[in-house]
Amino acid sequence: MRTDYGFPPGALTMNKFSFTKTVICPLLLTALLPVTALAQPKGWNDPFPAHKIMDNLYYVGTNQLSSFLITTPAGLILMSTDYEESVPVIQANVKALGFNFKDIKILISGHGHPDHIEGDPLVKELTGAQVVVGRLEVPYAESFKNPKGKKQPIDRIVDDGDTVTLGGTTLTAHLLPGHTKGCLAWSLPLKENGKTYYGFIECSLNIQGMQFVDNKDYPNIVEDFRATHKKARSFPVEVWASSHGVFYGLDEKYAKLKARKEGDPNPFIDPQGYQAHVNEFEKKFDDVLAAQLAKAKGQ
Ligand SMILES: [Zn+2]
Repeated sequence: MRTDYGFPPGALTMNKFSFTKTVICPLLLTALLPVTALAQPKGWNDPFPAHKIMDNLYYVGTNQLSSFLITTPAGLILMSTDYEESVPVIQANVKALGFNFKDIKILISGHGHPDHIEGDPLVKELTGAQVVVGRLEVPYAESFKNPKGKKQPIDRIVDDGDTVTLGGTTLTAHLLPGHTKGCLAWSLPLKENGKTYYGFIECSLNIQGMQFVDNKDYPNIVEDFRATHKKARSFPVEVWASSHGVFYGLDEKYAKLKARKEGDPNPFIDPQGYQAHVNEFEKKFDDVLAAQLAKAKGQ
């Protein structure tokens, strides 16, 4: 499994205040540019095969940016549009699965970073879907400078514990702040072979490029991350995915899915992998926080 997660520093930073002094010079320049001027990391919009994760949950994202499709008898729910350039890849994936993109009735907006929400206005234009945004992501969405000058659509604002229901499927929002102030994970029940699994679409625990000491834009970032790690471990997660495939071992799991024979377990059933993932990212957080605190003390 890849461990560097392939994130160029600067690609995920929210603004010029949120990078650390450890990033190397050319990337530091990238981090100083407004988010809308950032080049998209190479290959992130490349296609990735659409596939069923379990039951009515499908992956329709790109090579590096997750988008999920939840199918119901009353229409489709799309979660995360990624970059505007990602939208044709998502459209092709929805079509490849045999569904009609125009049947998307609800768009659950991704967390407040360009690589998850830039495509929202285009998907709204193409489908007329109701756009659901987490309350604490609203200020980011409202101030987001879409490269085409489009306004980010917001039709419904949700809080921790709120639900989105369509055609008999209900998703529940879980606030897990830190990566962004309003990072929302979503849970839903998934059935396979007569068993119901706790499905969980994680937001992100990634800390790359983040400033924990004296962060004027996000003063309680450390407290939020600590509470989020604790809360993240409390869900009885069985089947899981995340906003980037690298976080949940998509390449490896997809390879297993392709090779799956009758009777083999669904590779996306991975409760231990989820807990290990939370522990791994908490450790990264602790290490980077300690380093940043030591550096601040030494100055
Ligand atoms: Zn992000």
